Amino acid sequence: MSKDIVTIIKSTNYSEADKILTVFGRELGKFSLFARGIRKINSKNRGNMQTLSTSKISFYEGKGIPVLTESELIETLDIENLKIPNVRRVLFLLNKFLQEYDPYPRLFDVLQAALKKELDIVSTNKLRIIFLKEMGFLEDFSSCIYCKSSEDIKYIDEETFALVCKNCYSKGKGKPLGDNPYASSTLTRLLDRYIKKVVEEI
Ligand SMILES: [Zn+2]
Repeated sequence: MSKDIVTIIKSTNYSEADKILTVFGRELGKFSLFARGIRKINSKNRGNMQTLSTSKISFYEGKGIPVLTESELIETLDIENLKIPNVRRVLFLLNKFLQEYDPYPRLFDVLQAALKKELDIVSTNKLRIIFLKEMGFLEDFSSCIYCKSSEDIKYIDEETFALVCKNCYSKGKGKPLGDNPYASSTLTRLLDRYIKKVVEEI
């Protein structure tokens, strides 16, 4: 029997009673899981395996896709209260970028922190930037693209999606991100666009 802590990132009905889940495991990375009988009302796993829930699971690895045996809920999200665009942003990223059985424990932990904040815009954008960096799609996001200064880098270059410092901004480069850069709608919009571009290129 194998074990991991997983967040459910996709759920597909398989038959009347079963589902195929895509999960992001802390130790194993992304993988598929067959959840037999999970759609039945008396299934003990049913409430633990909703999209974006995190559970401790046991599963059986035989031939083909691993089969869920037991689960214990760690954290669940009240989907009703979530901003749907952020849920979509995060699920899109996880499903598109993660490779099967390629573990990213650090990203898993950052995801858990973002889920605890109910995927507000700050935690969603932070998660997305750390994600892009970790996966090698964002070279440097801690200094100005023009002068390499790391002071007052609250501006952004629209074309390259790179940070710009106050000094270079005063010379006509970049756009302001405001006092709380991660909450900036400019950052959100440019990040949406940058991720779309990266996905088209991979
Ligand atoms: Zn600069």
